[in-house]
Amino acid sequence: MPVHHPEPERLMEYAAGAASPAMDVLIAAHLSLCPTCRKTVERLERMGGHMLESLGSDEDVVSMSPGAFDALLEKLDLPEEAPQAAAGDEIDPLPGVDLPAPIRETLRNLERPLEWRNRGKGIEEAEIPLPVDVDDSVRMSLLRIQPGRAVLEHTHDGGEELTMVLAGGFSDEHGHYVRGDVQTGDDELIHKPIADEGEVCVCLAVVEGNLRFTGPVGRVLNLFMRT
Ligand SMILES: [Zn+2]
Repeated sequence: MPVHHPEPERLMEYAAGAASPAMDVLIAAHLSLCPTCRKTVERLERMGGHMLESLGSDEDVVSMSPGAFDALLEKLDLPEEAPQAAAGDEIDPLPGVDLPAPIRETLRNLERPLEWRNRGKGIEEAEIPLPVDVDDSVRMSLLRIQPGRAVLEHTHDGGEELTMVLAGGFSDEHGHYVRGDVQTGDDELIHKPIADEGEVCVCLAVVEGNLRFTGPVGRVLNLFMRT
């Protein structure tokens, strides 16, 4: 069971349906592996439900005409879900990794295959394209880190990065992270995660805001990342 959880604010945002689509996938994936946070979110959702019920007893709402209520329901209607590929044409995007359902679902609906790019020695990143209407400061990607390799030291410029382990593990100054664990990095934290020996570490990362690398190599990288 995971021991490193997303911040309570993230769970609240998720329960309220206010998370960005990328964050929504990461939190849902964590919940699929974490009974503790699942319970918290259920509680938050019940709380939200009670609040709606108490709104429902409000005179203004009761006096609404049936037509107006239907119109409201129509507005709340969710868009049709994209058709899913037949089981036969499904390509495993990450062979050997048991992907949580929300991530599997996201990768299944991608318009083009994942493109792995080198991000330093033993580190690869594949960006997961987000819908065009999403704020472009949000990024979602998969990271593949070879055993024993360190991710460049970086801080987060006014943004936050959530990293969830899908396979293998890594350590930073706060502890050891394995499958299901979520690490939160923000501007306060300079961290340097190092992948465990013996197994490739695969993570899902969601960044809201811009990353700023520190250190001499990082300063050069920053020049390339400011696009
Ligand atoms: Zn949790």
